[in-house]
Amino acid sequence: MKARLIDKSGLQWLLDRLGSQGYEVLAPCLENGVVEAGPVTSLEELPAGVEEETEAGRYRLRFDGKEGTDLLFSHALTAMGWQRFLHPSSEPLWRAELRGGALEIQPLPAEAPRRALVGLRACDLAAISIQDRVLAQNDPRYARRRENLFLVAVNCGRAAATCFCHAMGTGPEVKQGHDLVLTELVGGGAHRFLVEAGSEAGAGMLQALPGREPEADDWEEKRARIEAASRQRRRLPEDTGDLLASSLDHPHWEKVGERCLACGNCTSVCPTCFCSRMVERTGLDGQQATHWRLRDSCFDSEHSYLHGGPVRRDRAARYRQWLTHKLHHWQAQFGTTGCTGCGRCITWCPVGIDLTEEVAALEVAA
Ligand code: SF4
Ligand code: SF4
Repeated sequence: MKARLIDKSGLQWLLDRLGSQGYEVLAPCLENGVVEAGPVTSLEELPAGVEEETEAGRYRLRFDGKEGTDLLFSHALTAMGWQRFLHPSSEPLWRAELRGGALEIQPLPAEAPRRALVGLRACDLAAISIQDRVLAQNDPRYARRRENLFLVAVNCGRAAATCFCHAMGTGPEVKQGHDLVLTELVGGGAHRFLVEAGSEAGAGMLQALPGREPEADDWEEKRARIEAASRQRRRLPEDTGDLLASSLDHPHWEKVGERCLACGNCTSVCPTCFCSRMVERTGLDGQQATHWRLRDSCFDSEHSYLHGGPVRRDRAARYRQWLTHKLHHWQAQFGTTGCTGCGRCITWCPVGIDLTEEVAALEVAA
């Protein structure tokens, strides 16, 4: 079976089936004034009719039912990426205890629950595939969590103003990395979902879905929605990596450095950033200590600390490091760019630094 057409009750059936199979179902919902992934059991918890307005340094939610139907996936993205379910920002790795004068070290096992992530976009899947390259072979905790995922993606029907996945070749159409992909349709006033499988597990679920065969109109509406989401004004040039590598002394870095606050928001929201540091937290009695992995940011001066002080002393050097690593060095290290074009770093930069504009500024000869 290639695809099924289901209505809202069919989608609720899917959530229920995933729950009954032992998955914790996580999907977009409204949380602290943003659209964010959280545990859901009912479609009622999804952010129906919500669209985000984003620009550099700006995020607002708008409640706007379309064509008499509140689309469940009318937003473009969750505020944060989904990587926190695979590579949490903090976790204890092992614990050491002094017992009778001897030191005992106990590894702390990772939690790896079965999770169904519902509502990821093509750029989110691209980010997971990038993190797979970096972490799946090197971090058994990541690998265990990854094995336990069931991914239900959604094709975008609109792009936020900060999206540039089309230019990066990562979206807006979901083509790989999913178990199931939904396209939300409302043509003719009928709210429905075209569901396609992308894996064996997804095909098994598709067989069981209550629904019917899609018709030509459904496929046409899917095509039109993806085409609408492909209209994006931001872009990165194709030769961005080479441009950055040949612009290390460009004066524009100093201009960005004057604006950048080194807050690290961009690295916190970026779905491909993975840098961590290790810290020991010792009990007040000095008898035990826990070894933690904590998310780190290349905007933190400690991140480049070598004997005598940080290598990247100013904010211009840290911003240059972030951008050149993500858009150039990753190619050599991991065979891929580190950017999916999700635009989150643009939205959440408090001073509106926009990597597409900063790269464009480097195209102008110094
Ligand atoms: S660098 Fe910015 S646009 Fe690219 S993946 Fe990270 S947050 Fe998204
Ligand atoms: S570029 Fe923006 S978000 Fe990133 S550290 Fe600088 S001020 Fe913060």
